[in-house]
Amino acid sequence: MQDQAELDKKYFIDEYVYNCPFCNRRNVEYGIMHDTKFNWSNEKTCYVYLVECQSCNKMSMHLSFDSIKASQSTWIHGEFGWRFKKGIDIDSHIFFSQPTSFFVVDSRIPGILRELITEAEGCLKMNYLTGASACMRKAIYELLVIEKAEGDDYESRIKYLKQKHKDTDPSLFDILAHIQQMTSDKIHEQSWDKWDSPNLKLIIETLKTVLYDIYVIPQLKKESSIKIQELLVSVKGSKGKTAKEIKPPKRASPPKTPKPDV
Ligand SMILES: [Zn+2]
Repeated sequence: MQDQAELDKKYFIDEYVYNCPFCNRRNVEYGIMHDTKFNWSNEKTCYVYLVECQSCNKMSMHLSFDSIKASQSTWIHGEFGWRFKKGIDIDSHIFFSQPTSFFVVDSRIPGILRELITEAEGCLKMNYLTGASACMRKAIYELLVIEKAEGDDYESRIKYLKQKHKDTDPSLFDILAHIQQMTSDKIHEQSWDKWDSPNLKLIIETLKTVLYDIYVIPQLKKESSIKIQELLVSVKGSKGKTAKEIKPPKRASPPKTPKPDV
């Protein structure tokens, strides 16, 4: 079984549940309520899937060059719909989604960086390498600005980050420091070359890992120590009382019966 963090990074977990981009609920049921196809080009057919969240009822759109809908329709909460095919990695068949998978980049990472990475990933899926490269360049520069990285050139500013965040694997910063094109002094956007797909994947994954280390892990540590403090207080609070004196937790009041509609 995949661990939860891996599943949280996905859009579609399996044919029944996904991470809803609207209500941000994870592992929520969805259904394909509408679908169609059109000719992307003479040779290529594009399949359009409109997916409805069974929690918030909002509809998202997903494009694929593969027919990935199960052949049998099914009843989904009283409506006629479809599931995706069983046992496939749905995300890998979808090249564009609206909303994008913005929510899968942790919300504790600064918004501007999340936006740029999400856009870069979207561009990469569509094979728009120039767009993806521009987004990633900007994301790295934004990170340097947010972190107030000091230094005369790109490499020394990355080294500054490496010094500042000693808990992060230093080799990740080395990868960022030696990215081709970033190290040379390019002034105009036109003088930049785009990165190829393997390089872009490496840069995106490296930056995501660095961002997770810088912005998410310290927050998680803080949250868990607050939890422990709270437990400690509750243990101290009940100290000295005998078991009898510790009141059982109040029972939740029974749900109110809804008033009939007038
Ligand atoms: Zn939803």
